[in-house]
Amino acid sequence: MYELILKAADYAARQHRDQRRKDAEASPYINHPIAVARILSEAGIDDPVVLAAAILHDTIEDTTTTPDDLRQRFDDRIASIVVEVTDDKSLEKARRKELQVEHAPHLSEAAALVKFADKIANLTDILESPPPWTPERKAAYFAWARTVVVRLPVQHARLRERFDALQARGPAVSTP
Ligand code: ZN
Repeated sequence: MYELILKAADYAARQHRDQRRKDAEASPYINHPIAVARILSEAGIDDPVVLAAAILHDTIEDTTTTPDDLRQRFDDRIASIVVEVTDDKSLEKARRKELQVEHAPHLSEAAALVKFADKIANLTDILESPPPWTPERKAAYFAWARTVVVRLPVQHARLRERFDALQARGPAVSTP
């Protein structure tokens, strides 16, 4: 179990090596996928395949990794979870955000858990190591993340609790 997770961490760190997060300190990108896996682990999820997929979840979207690379280095299940949570970067950002909302109910259980933890990690970062965004942009992100999360087919109680606590601390959103 540890071997798989450490292998995923080693591979993801190398693939994301030239990327940084958007916070003021420009943190190494790899801290984000590690945070996603850690959120799952802290919520009691201990399936090594799900944790490895969490660590790898942005490799196809943001690096040169292909689904075949993940199939060969890891296995079909990990590759398919990562494919499920990968946005099509040939589309405009607004369309990609709409598609996340549309696709959310159709995700597998494992992919839904990774998506859930990914949103928790992003909200945590916006609150605790914020990117240089206006309050309106932050509020819009919180609202969109909620739209995605409530449509996920897995409403894991501990993840939901953590998500709701972050939403409560979030920028004030004027409800339309
Ligand atoms: Zn992510």
